[in-house]
Amino acid sequence: MIVVMKPGSSQKQIDHMIERIEEMGLRSHVIVGTDRTVIAALGEKRDGAKQALETGEGVEKVVPILAPYKMASTEVKKERTVVKSHDLKVGNCHIGIIAGPCSVESREQILEVAHIVKEAGAAGLRGGAFKPRTSPYSFQGLKEKGLQLLAEARAATGLAVVTEVMAPEQVQLVAEYADVLQVGARNMQNYPLLEKVGEAGLPVLLKRGPSATLDEFLLAAEYILKTGNTQVMLCERGIRTFEDHTRFTLPLATVPYLHQTTHLPVVVDPSHGTGKASLVATMAKAAIAAEADGLIVEIHPNPEVAMSDGFQALTPPAFRQMMQECRKIAAAVGREM
Ligand code: PEP
Ligand code: MN
Repeated sequence: MIVVMKPGSSQKQIDHMIERIEEMGLRSHVIVGTDRTVIAALGEKRDGAKQALETGEGVEKVVPILAPYKMASTEVKKERTVVKSHDLKVGNCHIGIIAGPCSVESREQILEVAHIVKEAGAAGLRGGAFKPRTSPYSFQGLKEKGLQLLAEARAATGLAVVTEVMAPEQVQLVAEYADVLQVGARNMQNYPLLEKVGEAGLPVLLKRGPSATLDEFLLAAEYILKTGNTQVMLCERGIRTFEDHTRFTLPLATVPYLHQTTHLPVVVDPSHGTGKASLVATMAKAAIAAEADGLIVEIHPNPEVAMSDGFQALTPPAFRQMMQECRKIAAAVGREM
């Protein structure tokens, strides 16, 4: 249920309602809006709870939440969430660009890429230190050394570091170095991981599982939101279909659909979504035209020698050109990049 307070209701009235909600064995989650406060009362349905709460002082109405994802839903929060870290701003007309290599490979590589990313006007640096590889014989990432190199790249450029955490027991270590915790597509429904990541308190980039429906995706986000962490970005990175001319199929209707159903920002990954460098810039532009709140893009100084995903990495000149073209599209759809 959502307890909608009257405009101008007092803090005392709000606190009183929180107390009443919690006395009923429900959890409360307060959302302060520009003209009114709403309190989401979450938990198992109780007979008579709606009527009881409706009599509270300062309460305008109590409405049921129809969406299965309670806190992610626009029913609970109309205002768009903006995820922020350093200069990275994602959501509500702010387009945040995150770019970098698939994997952190060496000090030289990540520092070179970080400067390229910064100079092109992006605000987030991506790079995997713990890599979820399909084959156990493929490069698994530099692990803590990779995290240290990412932190060094942040110190040199001021970019926000976005990096993947693969297991609950890694969260503490990764959170010491990262600015944004990435949950990879393979782990979208790893619920203990989602909870741990939520509790770390850092912004989260949650990637869609290649076979997950959008309801499953939103319910996965709900696990993070339920910890009280509201800084969650959803990332469409392509789904598995019968089609095999691209690595995955990138469904861009996800963006406007999620904008209708959730206040959380939506980021698109045209790199994993296509798996082909030659397709990335066009799909990046299409994503911005579809009003995506951000992009996460793989780039490499020399894609031919990349230790992972080189075939989908943009070269630095191609990335710069993509940025220039995306800016024009952003302006055309009334957004800031
Ligand atoms: C990545 O971003 O490098 C990655 C492994 O992506 P995904 O989880 O979407 O496959
Ligand atoms: Mn990759």
